[in-house]
Amino acid sequence: MNWGKHILLTLIAILLITFTIASFMPSNPNSYKDKDIPNAKPVEPWITETIPSGGSIFSVLEKFNLPLKEIAILSFRFGDYIDVTTIQPGDTLKVLLDEGKQHISKLMFVQEPTKRHHFVVQGDSLVYTLEALPVILQKRMIEGVMQNTLDATLLSMGISPRDKQNINNGLEGEINFQRDARNGDRFQVYAEERIFEGKTLPGRKIYYVQYSGERTGSHELFRYEDKDETSVVNGLYNLQGKSRSSAGVGFPLGSIHVVSKFGKRLDPFFGRWANHQGVDYRASYGTPVYAVANGSVTAAAYSGGWGNQVQIKHPSGLTTQYAHLASISVRKGQSVKKGQVIGRVGSTGRSTGAHLHFGLIQGKSFINPTNLKMVGAEKLNDAQMIEFKRQQEQIRREMSQNNNQVAVGNIRR
Ligand SMILES: [Zn+2]
Repeated sequence: MNWGKHILLTLIAILLITFTIASFMPSNPNSYKDKDIPNAKPVEPWITETIPSGGSIFSVLEKFNLPLKEIAILSFRFGDYIDVTTIQPGDTLKVLLDEGKQHISKLMFVQEPTKRHHFVVQGDSLVYTLEALPVILQKRMIEGVMQNTLDATLLSMGISPRDKQNINNGLEGEINFQRDARNGDRFQVYAEERIFEGKTLPGRKIYYVQYSGERTGSHELFRYEDKDETSVVNGLYNLQGKSRSSAGVGFPLGSIHVVSKFGKRLDPFFGRWANHQGVDYRASYGTPVYAVANGSVTAAAYSGGWGNQVQIKHPSGLTTQYAHLASISVRKGQSVKKGQVIGRVGSTGRSTGAHLHFGLIQGKSFINPTNLKMVGAEKLNDAQMIEFKRQQEQIRREMSQNNNQVAVGNIRR
């Protein structure tokens, strides 16, 4: 990167951060009145809680002895901003109660040291702002030599388990490791790292993976990225545009953000415990909803609390369910193909706002739909392939310019 651009980007980052911090400074309407009183500055008594193993936002809020309905609604709204499947034990939730200690007035969620999610409670809704501390983004090449297993080699190089899994998944579609991998095989990973206070944060964005060995031959994977950075299609593909997995079903939406998981939860409608029989995905009103696999439509009508609902029976015997739709574009009895639009996201039936409820039925019972192995695209389509080729060229150019940053054998942390 040239220095002029670098300095400009740094300046923009500083401006943005200053602006963000300034918007969080408490504005105290009483500051004039209180000017002469020493120590009048209110100290906000934030209560800090840590998400326990197996815990959730509402299991933390439940401790505060507030009306269950209030907690149910806040927990549900929280999911509009934070994908609940990314919440980990050890994440921090700070809670600020109102003066009478009867209600929650503010929440702050710290998921990683660089990101603070601020929530101000206003009635049944949350006003959200993200405070992001500056991180240094750095792309670089990591090279290694296989010893015993690729897993063990990557871990010994300090690659986080999640990144390791991404690399492994990609290559496993290309190489029969058990049969063909040998000690001394070589690999390269080109990834973007986020560095904060001198440390690399977990979650590298992997742009390129190359593996070569005497018996495996040479294999390359490149990252493909849609314009939408949360697109389910984004990920590693081989040169022919084939994804790491071809056995999965599709996603019901073009981008995925889980508001509410399967299983026991506080019902946001009644504020009592109930079993949530599917997964709720955030999506705006009118977003197209796709059939996740081929099948035949067994329900396509308004159905009580589900609102406008579509059910599709698949050859595997499983049935998928899509509820609260604004509109339905298939008929009962019709055959549908994977990826076909079956309706639009809405908020019909018992729903607190636009979202897709996605359910999975086996026999007569609902099972956890996240057990399905979903894949964004088994193979990129023609238009995506043109863009993929362009992105490959760009990555290759970057890698050849980035040669001076090669880290061999291990990663400095
Ligand atoms: Zn639901």
